[in-house]
Amino acid sequence: MTDCDFLVVGHGLAGATLADELHRRGHRVLVYDAGRPDSASRVAAGLVNPVAGRRFALAWRADELIPYATAYYRALEARLGQAFYTAAPIFKVFGSEEEQVALIARSAKQPWGDFVAEILTHDPGLPGVLAPHGGAWLRHGGYLAVAELLAALATEGEAAGWLRRETFDWARLVSAPAGAAPAFIYNGTVTARYVVCCEGAEAVNNPYFNWLPITPNQGEVLDVECTGLGPEQVLNRGAYVVPLGAGRFRVGATYRWPPFAEGPTADGRAELATRLGALTSAPFA
Ligand SMILES: Cc1cc2nc3c(=O)[nH]c(=O)nc-3n(C[C@H](O)[C@H](O)[C@H](O)COP(=O)(O)OP(=O)(O)OC[C@H]3O[C@@H](n4cnc5c(N)ncnc54)[C@H](O)[C@@H]3O)c2cc1C
Repeated sequence: MTDCDFLVVGHGLAGATLADELHRRGHRVLVYDAGRPDSASRVAAGLVNPVAGRRFALAWRADELIPYATAYYRALEARLGQAFYTAAPIFKVFGSEEEQVALIARSAKQPWGDFVAEILTHDPGLPGVLAPHGGAWLRHGGYLAVAELLAALATEGEAAGWLRRETFDWARLVSAPAGAAPAFIYNGTVTARYVVCCEGAEAVNNPYFNWLPITPNQGEVLDVECTGLGPEQVLNRGAYVVPLGAGRFRVGATYRWPPFAEGPTADGRAELATRLGALTSAPFA
């Protein structure tokens, strides 16, 4: 019998960072992960964008969470001896003069704290970037190498035996009456005080939470080579562009409602190529 305090289902960014923090606090943790190669965390660009979306809204608790996340990733880098997080300014390109005027009007009330460093009404002339209506420089953002971070944490977990590369079968989880210990028995071989569900979009198949009104959606990213852009350039306008190194960039993301596609689609590729083409004059492939 394996006894643990926390049984975590899912080793995406949520489950991996939770398990890491629980370990740090001295708890016994066991994690199950089905290892889907196309999970959100394994394909995401990892952009940490403090002001985003069509409404150009400040992210929830950005002034508290971004410094916390940055310090957390720096501590992980020191422990694992690998770089994961790149702090970088983000250039939000204005798509039209109307957008430029609207954001300048909103800026009078300073809705973005100090996350907006500068608003430009002219093209700043960044290499390869099309910005005839100017844009806004955002500070305190950056990007995380999510897949690399998860791989490094998983290597630790597999070596220490707390990560199991298996699908967690909810039908094999038995919960004890309230107040009884252990609270959960899994598969007749694992006991846990708590079970924490970090399955991402798979939560719709979780019998404890499938009553929640969640509709998952599907996203695709496009990796391109584009040597005409500055190697550290992070862009945002309709699509985001995040450096991968060596002249390569990740462009994202599409959003698809059910029914979902199996694997990458020609439509997704075409949509992202069009959006990137509106952002850069440089050739890409
Ligand atoms: C294309 C795309 C691009 C994105 N880009 C960004 C971005 O730039 N910036 C940003 O902030 N966010 C981005 N996101 C969103 C972000 O990636 C997700 O919010 C985040 O990764 C979700 O992490 P998670 O751990 O909750 O879920 P997931 O990454 O989905 O991980 C869930 C894990 O649980 C496992 N699992 C599920 N069910 C079971 C089971 N029964 N047994 C065992 N294992 C199970 C899966 O295999 C998976 O490994 C993007 C998302 C997509 C799809």
